[in-house]
Amino acid sequence: MDIETYIRDIQDFPKEGIVFKDITPLLSNKDAFAKAQNTLRGLIPNDIEIDKVVGIEARGFFFGPLLARQLNAGFVPVRKPNKLPHTTISQEYALEYGTDVLEIHKDAIQPGDKVLLHDDILATGGTAQAVVQLIETLGGTVVQCNFLIQLGFLNGKEKLPNIPVASAITY
Ligand code: AMP
Repeated sequence: MDIETYIRDIQDFPKEGIVFKDITPLLSNKDAFAKAQNTLRGLIPNDIEIDKVVGIEARGFFFGPLLARQLNAGFVPVRKPNKLPHTTISQEYALEYGTDVLEIHKDAIQPGDKVLLHDDILATGGTAQAVVQLIETLGGTVVQCNFLIQLGFLNGKEKLPNIPVASAITY
């Protein structure tokens, strides 16, 4: 079974010119869901120790906690502004038009933590780059950036130099 067939393209969502990769058919099919999870786990070398998995709101929350359980690691959510209740640090990053901000709890990463960053899609790389900055500001080391999908033609990898980037599917 090919998990790619459970990802559908939605034209012009959320705005004109964007082809949105909708992963909800994959999540709702038990076999595709299981295969995607196992594929993501298989991307992570067995010989690296991981203390925390950081997942990015919102679609990084589907597989991030599952990976954390498989790795016997903790899970840390990175969220949009004013969602996390305790003391946070924030990072602004550029979007196609304008900027956005992501936040993490200051005490969620300890200096020296080895961190796996997970999100559903690597597109231009701006989002992942901002989250790497948050993790590194708190003294963590990102050992892999892990994605279900990588839009290779957008070269997001270039924004994540010196960090291994892995994805289950590359377009
Ligand atoms: P970027 O910062 O450009 O790498 O964008 C990554 C973030 O935007 C991820 O959190 C994705 O969920 C979302 N994203 C970007 N492009 C798409 C797309 N074509 N379809 C669905 N989500 C996308």
